[in-house]
Amino acid sequence: MTLRERLLGVIGDERRVSDGASIRAAHGRDVSHHEPRDPDVVVFPETTAEVSAVLALAHAERVPVVAFGAGTSLEGHVIPARGGISLDLTRMDRVLDVRAGDLLAVVQPGVTRSALNVRAGEHGLFFPVDPGADATLGGMAATNASGTTTVRYGGMRVHVLALEVVLAGGTVVRTGSRAAKTSAGYGLTHLFVGSEGTLGVITELTVRLHGIPEHVVAARAAFADLDGACAAAVALAGSGVTVTRLELVDADTMRAVNAYKGTAYAEAPSLFLELAGSEAGVEGDVEAARELVTDAGGSGWSEERESEARSRLWDARHHALFALQHASPGRLHKSTDVCVPLSELPGAIRHARAAADRLGLAATIIAHAGDGNYHVLFMLDPADPVERATAEELNDEIVAWALQRGGTCTGEHGIGAGKLRHLTAEHGDLIPLMRGIKELLDPHGILNPGKVLPD
Ligand SMILES: Cc1cc2nc3c(=O)[nH]c(=O)nc-3n(C[C@H](O)[C@H](O)[C@H](O)COP(=O)(O)OP(=O)(O)OC[C@H]3O[C@@H](n4cnc5c(N)ncnc54)[C@H](O)[C@@H]3O)c2cc1C
Repeated sequence: MTLRERLLGVIGDERRVSDGASIRAAHGRDVSHHEPRDPDVVVFPETTAEVSAVLALAHAERVPVVAFGAGTSLEGHVIPARGGISLDLTRMDRVLDVRAGDLLAVVQPGVTRSALNVRAGEHGLFFPVDPGADATLGGMAATNASGTTTVRYGGMRVHVLALEVVLAGGTVVRTGSRAAKTSAGYGLTHLFVGSEGTLGVITELTVRLHGIPEHVVAARAAFADLDGACAAAVALAGSGVTVTRLELVDADTMRAVNAYKGTAYAEAPSLFLELAGSEAGVEGDVEAARELVTDAGGSGWSEERESEARSRLWDARHHALFALQHASPGRLHKSTDVCVPLSELPGAIRHARAAADRLGLAATIIAHAGDGNYHVLFMLDPADPVERATAEELNDEIVAWALQRGGTCTGEHGIGAGKLRHLTAEHGDLIPLMRGIKELLDPHGILNPGKVLPD
């Protein structure tokens, strides 16, 4: 019997167990430069019981299983390095409960961020973690995603209160609670968050929601150089002004955005900001932010209050990667993801820019400046091994620089297959401990092998 036939024995629905070439190919790649590899079979479970049955079979037969959400992760996370089963959770896409009084929602893993926000919005609430891509809540939890609003609200770990997880052998466990806090034993919820599908498959999440702010202002300013924009961002973050987003975009990216979106933004290093809260508080903060930015050398300050105009502005920021891809047809995207203590951000970006120029690499820079997290983006020619190797060399140099200053190799994208050696550089002494946890939860190593932990 083939693997598909054996899986049909536990799923029993021909349409949801596929070894068709195009479906396998769609589950064998991500949007980045990582080498594709197709799974042998793609399974679309609809219930926790089905996930459990698939994992029990895979565990017994030692078949690798890679959970798949929206496939927007950037480090080869969803590429089945050893073949096997791609477990596509997008059919588990129900918002099970919105408990407005408790400021939380219970969702299945395939619910997207935007779908949750539609349901939460009916109650005057929203889910703030915003990685730009319309990712699934399961994938976002599994990568500990964050994004433009993290400076104010925090990332996924802060937002996941409880999980239902299927372990490698098929056992279903529940972690956490619906309470706003808990000190009950080891923090297993937070262990599964960020585990990239290597410790278990998340089948239900309880997440925090927030009230939609009454008044929101988005603003933008341009700077003569990256240094000035960085310094202004650091000053803003420490000023007491309550920014809800604080993003830095370099001049080349602004140029690509203008070409892609048909906008006419200044093609200079720019800060994109958002302030939200009560009208009186926000308007006072906008004034303070404008003064601070102008004193730091910012020019062309502009503000948007209407919801559509604000969306346009944030679309421009969120579509930066697509704009760069559009500007570089046939090239593949690679991004660094270091995060440094805030005071180190100006130096980090200066160092990265100088290193890219020294190596002759076309590289652009964007940053979640309020978090000290920045991305150097390369558009690589897949047929040019030298260019790829040079980008790797630069990534290593950027990571080493960050680690020397108390930073981390990944602020939000995770390790996947692409940062294995950087995890060793950052936490080499902890690898045996991490491996012990992995062996306890997944003794046969069937869950997303080749990711997070180096072989
Ligand atoms: C344009 C663009 C901008 C981005 N910006 C950001 C950003 O600002 N911040 C940020 O954090 N990320 C960003 N990302 C990366 C990406 O959106 C995040 O990593 C996201 O969290 C991945 O979610 P997903 O549903 O696509 O997961 P997938 O890519 O499908 O999966 C990601 C990982 O999670 C595992 N997984 C998926 N579902 C489950 C589950 N139910 N149980 C267990 N494991 C599971 C997979 O096996 C894989 O290892 C960006 C990506 C793009 C394309």
